[in-house]
Amino acid sequence: MIRKPCDNCDRVIEVDDELAGAKVACEACGDINVMPAAGEAAAVAAGSRAAQLGLPPDEGPEQEVLKVRPAMLRARPLLFIGLVLLVVMGITGFAWGMYGMPNTVKTLAKFAGGIGAVVALGALGAWKMKALSAALEITNKRTVHRQGLLSKATSEVVHDNIRNVQVTQTFWQRLWNVGTLGLSSSGQDGIEIEISDIPRPERVREVIDAYRPLG
Ligand SMILES: [Zn+2]
Repeated sequence: MIRKPCDNCDRVIEVDDELAGAKVACEACGDINVMPAAGEAAAVAAGSRAAQLGLPPDEGPEQEVLKVRPAMLRARPLLFIGLVLLVVMGITGFAWGMYGMPNTVKTLAKFAGGIGAVVALGALGAWKMKALSAALEITNKRTVHRQGLLSKATSEVVHDNIRNVQVTQTFWQRLWNVGTLGLSSSGQDGIEIEISDIPRPERVREVIDAYRPLG
């Protein structure tokens, strides 16, 4: 068997050995991929799982493989859309209340709209800052979790020590392809790194699994 990640969608394409060097359409997305020649295929098969997924090798200098930040819209679509709507409605109400002959309704629209827009904008801003302050950086050696904008707190796990990678998703999170990722190492008990609202959590797990000893 020859394996190669699709150039377009990263899904692994698997073909018989006689198709070495041939052009093969990806079953998932239809993209035409040139399969590795026999020699290269053997090298890939003998190499790490990382190579099979088209990722940088485990050996050699440390290099960044993947960096992910918490999602906002995908993590809480109703709240996100609700806040954006509140901003738009608030500004509209405020503008409407400002113009024309003042009356009780316009005064009310002005105040309620203004306060609503400011509160919703503040909530969106705080949420954005929180999302920007957290990141998971995966290299070919370790996974680093950064938290905080001003005072940075980092925790890291060396991939060789990872005992378990957990993805937890609610029904809605599965639909939107976000979830919580937890990493525990053999050094200590319990989960050491936990980061929520991560987009494509299964892909992140796949990448980490490629660099840690399995079984
Ligand atoms: Zn594809």
